[in-house]
Amino acid sequence: MSIQISDSSETSDSLKSLSLIASHSHITGLGLDDNLQPRPSSEGMVGQLHARRAAGIILKMVQNGTIAGRAVLVAGPPSSGKTALAMGLSQSLGKDVPFTAIAGSEIFSLEISKTEALTQAFRKSIGIKIKEETELIEGEVVEIQIDRSITGGHKQGKLTIKTTDMETIYELGNKMIDGLTKEKVLAGDVISIDKASGKISKLGRSFARSRDYDAMGADTRFVQCPEGELQKRKTVVHTVSLHEIDVINSRTQGFLALFTGDTGEIRSEVRDQINTKVAEWKEEGKAEIVPGVLFVDEVHMLDIECFSFINRALEDEFAPIVMMATNRGISKTRGTNYKSPHGLPLDLLDRSIIITTSNYDEPEIKTILSIRAQEEEVELSSDALDLLTKSGKETSLRYSSNLISVSQQIALKRKSTVVEVADVKRAYLLFLDCARSVKYVQDNQTQYID
Ligand code: ATP
Repeated sequence: MSIQISDSSETSDSLKSLSLIASHSHITGLGLDDNLQPRPSSEGMVGQLHARRAAGIILKMVQNGTIAGRAVLVAGPPSSGKTALAMGLSQSLGKDVPFTAIAGSEIFSLEISKTEALTQAFRKSIGIKIKEETELIEGEVVEIQIDRSITGGHKQGKLTIKTTDMETIYELGNKMIDGLTKEKVLAGDVISIDKASGKISKLGRSFARSRDYDAMGADTRFVQCPEGELQKRKTVVHTVSLHEIDVINSRTQGFLALFTGDTGEIRSEVRDQINTKVAEWKEEGKAEIVPGVLFVDEVHMLDIECFSFINRALEDEFAPIVMMATNRGISKTRGTNYKSPHGLPLDLLDRSIIITTSNYDEPEIKTILSIRAQEEEVELSSDALDLLTKSGKETSLRYSSNLISVSQQIALKRKSTVVEVADVKRAYLLFLDCARSVKYVQDNQTQYID
C-alpha cells in the first residue's frame, strides 16, 4: 500500500487567523522565563504559579519528545484556569507539535462510536514529521553552499548562494561578496568573483584547467561549484498528524473529509497498515514521530468504557500526553455505581500526575479582568474594574469576564465609549450568575416542569 500524506498546515493556519475573541484569546503562552519559572503575569497568564511551574515541566517533556503515553490530571474549582493552562501549553509548544482539545461530552456523538471518537482524538495528537525529496519549483529559494577552499590560495570558508530557481543566482549570502549576477551557474561550473566589486562571472566548466585561470590576477577569486550540489531536488519536511494520514488513506472518506470534519469510522485495517508504514519510515530515517498533547476538558463526562479505553491507549506505541481537566470532587464515575476522586477510576488516577489549581485572590482577578478588557478592546473606568473584580470574587471569574462585553453594550447605548460602574451594575442585574440563577429557580419552582 502506498500511503499518501498531505500538509494541512495551510488550512489550520487560515483558521487560526480568524479573529474571533474567544475566551482564552489573551493567552499566548505559559508565561515562563528561560528556567521555566512562571512570571507573575506574562503572556496573558496571571498567578496560578504552582500549576504553571508544573505545566512547564510537561512542556519540556513534550518538547524533548522522549516521553509519551502519560496522563496528567488538572483538578481545581470552576474558572480557576485549567483550560487556560492547557491553552498556554498549546501556545508554548508551537504549531509543529500537535495539540488537540476536546470536551468529554463530545465523545458521545451519534455518528461514531465513543472509542472511534477517542481513537481519532488520540491520532490527531500524534505528529509525523516526514522528510520528502521533491522537485524544485520555479521561484523557490534554495541555498547552495560552495566550499571556497577549492579556489586555490584564497580564503577558506563557505560561500552561500541563494537562487530563485535552478539556474539563476540572484543573491550572495556572503559578507565579503555582495555581487549580483544573472549568470547561469551549474554544478561543476567555475565562477569568478571580483573582490572589489563583488561581481560574479561564470567561466565555464573547463576554465579551472585552462591557463586563463592563472592569468586572472589576485583581485579575482574563483569558485568551482561542486558536482552534485545543484541537484534538481530538495528535501522538504511536512508535519501531519496520524489522523490526517488515516483519513486520506481511508477509501470511504477521502481527502475532503479533512475539511468537513465528517470522517466517519475508519477501519482498523487501514490504521494497522499506516502504523506499519510509519514504523518503517521511522526505521529508514524518513519520518520522526512527534507525540503531542490531547487535552480532554470536563473529563468527568466520560464513562467507564472511555476511561478503560484511555488506559489501554496510553500503552500504545503512538500515544500522546493526555491532559485531562475536571472541577469535580468525589463523584460517581459515569457508567458505574462507584464514587471516586474527580469521578476518575482509581487505575487511571493512579497512573496520572495531578496538577491542582486554586481560586484567585482579588488582585489576580483584577489583573485577569483588565487583560480581558484590553483583549476585547473595552475601556473600563477604574471603579467599573473594581466592581467587576468584586463580582469576580463573589461569583466567578468567568461570570465577571462575561460582564465586560455586556457592560460595554450598555455603555454604548448611552453613547459612551467608557464603561462606568452604572453599566456594570445594570449588566449584573440583567444577567444572573450561577448562584442567583439557582436561587431564582428554587423560588419559582412551581412555574417549571419537573
Ligand atoms: P471550568 O472548571 O469551569 O471549566 P476552568 O478552570 O477551565 O473552568 P478557565 O476556562 O480556564 O477555567 O478560566 C475562565 C476564564 O478566565 C477564561 O477566560 C480564562 O482564559 C481566564 N483565566 C483563568 N485563569 C487565568 C490565568 N491564570 N491567567 C489569565 N487568564 C485566566
